[in-house]
Amino acid sequence: MKNKFKWIISIFFLVLTPFIAIRHQLMGGGPSGSPSVDALCPFGGLETLPTLLKNGTYIQKITPSSFILLIAVIILTFVLGRAFCGYICPLGSIQSLITKLGKKLNIKQITLNRFFDRILRYAKYLVLFVVLFTTYKAGELILRPYDPWATFMHLTSGPEVFEEFLIGLIILIAIFISSLFIERAWCRYFCPLGAALSLTSPLRIFKIKKNNSTCINCKSCTHNCPMGLEIHSKVSPSSIECISCGECMTSCPINKTLEMKKGDISLSINKVGITIILTLVLIIGGNMVIGNFKTSLSNQTVLNENGTSNPDNIKAYMTLSDISKEFNIDSKDLLKACNLPNDTDLNKSIKELKDDFAKKGIDFEPSTLREIVKKIMK
Ligand code: SF4
Ligand code: SF4
Repeated sequence: MKNKFKWIISIFFLVLTPFIAIRHQLMGGGPSGSPSVDALCPFGGLETLPTLLKNGTYIQKITPSSFILLIAVIILTFVLGRAFCGYICPLGSIQSLITKLGKKLNIKQITLNRFFDRILRYAKYLVLFVVLFTTYKAGELILRPYDPWATFMHLTSGPEVFEEFLIGLIILIAIFISSLFIERAWCRYFCPLGAALSLTSPLRIFKIKKNNSTCINCKSCTHNCPMGLEIHSKVSPSSIECISCGECMTSCPINKTLEMKKGDISLSINKVGITIILTLVLIIGGNMVIGNFKTSLSNQTVLNENGTSNPDNIKAYMTLSDISKEFNIDSKDLLKACNLPNDTDLNKSIKELKDDFAKKGIDFEPSTLREIVKKIMK
């Protein structure tokens, strides 16, 4: 790999994200747990944006952290284009790694005919529109079971991935298989976040520029572009589709023929990586320091619906003590209604209690608790 620094950053995120997913599955979510996939996805920030602008609230599962991540990614896009896709997105990196594997296995790469390629590239804008519109209308992440990214982050959740994300799993497998033949087919044609970033990308400050006077027309740049862009015949490749990965720059045999430039200022591939890291550290780290990067909302906010606490919003990470407090139910009455022993630890999460009681042969499900609270509240 020539583009080592880029790959160090990409692999870092590729390892970090499943680590966060497993931690969340072990510890649960909520204020005392570990952040969920939804709290750490910039696309969630975009999905909640219409609701946030209209009502000043986040849709379910989305937290301020998603919105801050969205701002970080958009600022990055204004500076470097879709560098999030080129450097950070683990789904993008996995696709590129699978393509490398496919090439090693001598699997013939497919180049779509120009017409189909161009038409299909518009499909991602349709996906973006459908996702944003349906999410806004439903007021929740209604398409989450089909989301390949949410599915990927639940691969280690056991049966849940089949129960909750079956369609998402099929889409994820299709993405992996397609990557053996077409690099980043999902990113080129269908990813809604890629589409959103493409729309802001033309305003990017630094663009890939080609020096025609030194170009020997070897086409190495075009052959190595993961987004299938024809670079050798152009002065500047499409800034909408370019993911700023720098593969064209590192594959070019002639020094300074392809550069990431603004006027006379040229960014080396290492400086691109450093700019990305600094942007993330400043925006995300800065917001963490001042306490804005919240990955969970208070129980009161999560339970609240139209001004009152709704038992349907009870989460498995909440404790019986939380439920007792938020619904104003005496804890002894709650234990009695649930048929639980008096010495039940009220400060354990519902998920932990469910696991503890399952070992003793007692069935205790969050759904049962929701129904019991509903009955008590009547
Ligand atoms: S297009 Fe989508 S899947 Fe591809 S790298 Fe960008 S955000 Fe990730
Ligand atoms: S044009 Fe260059 S930087 Fe842009 S996606 Fe293709 S290889 Fe990457």
